[in-house]
Amino acid sequence: MIHPNLPYDYDALEPYVSERTMRLHHDKHHRGYVEKLNKLIEGTPYAELPLEEVISKARGEAKIGILNNALQAWNHEFLWESMAASGETSPDGRIKDMIEKSFGDVATFKQQFRSAAASFFGSGWVWLVQDGDDLRILTTGNADSPVGTDLTPLLVLDVWEHAYYLDYQNERARYIDAFLNKLINWKFAAANLYSPDVRKVA
Ligand code: FE
Repeated sequence: MIHPNLPYDYDALEPYVSERTMRLHHDKHHRGYVEKLNKLIEGTPYAELPLEEVISKARGEAKIGILNNALQAWNHEFLWESMAASGETSPDGRIKDMIEKSFGDVATFKQQFRSAAASFFGSGWVWLVQDGDDLRILTTGNADSPVGTDLTPLLVLDVWEHAYYLDYQNERARYIDAFLNKLINWKFAAANLYSPDVRKVA
């Protein structure tokens, strides 16, 4: 498994996420999961598989060490794409329509996401997922992730302390607000949508 580069410069998300945090988060934490995974799968049939197949095989075989590190590798890759430099932060088109259908309006979606992220206890992830024709907010603990389930992840926020502690210390709510108002890559979220009708026919 390779440790992918960030899709932007380390300082691209400043002042909301510092270069120092991004270097630590990407170069140490994310890389650490990839390296641990590679050690665990070396010389096994897992070593030949793409990451998403490693995840589904490890789930099926209850290989918890492989599964947790593979999920963290996948979740972090998805996290980098979920954020973008400020200025691309309003949903439009189909994803905006779906947010309005599922949550009422964008402000209510943000309020519900903020509340889920702020009240989540411990380390984990807060997701916007597509569930058929609906969008939902989902929280998962530790490495857990909707990847490979019936829910389709659209975007994610990392609420492990390593994601925000250097910049925000214990003020998780300020980090959540920066994500919601300045960092979400709505183009990425929209590109992850699928059409339930098309999937049924296929
Ligand atoms: Fe992280």
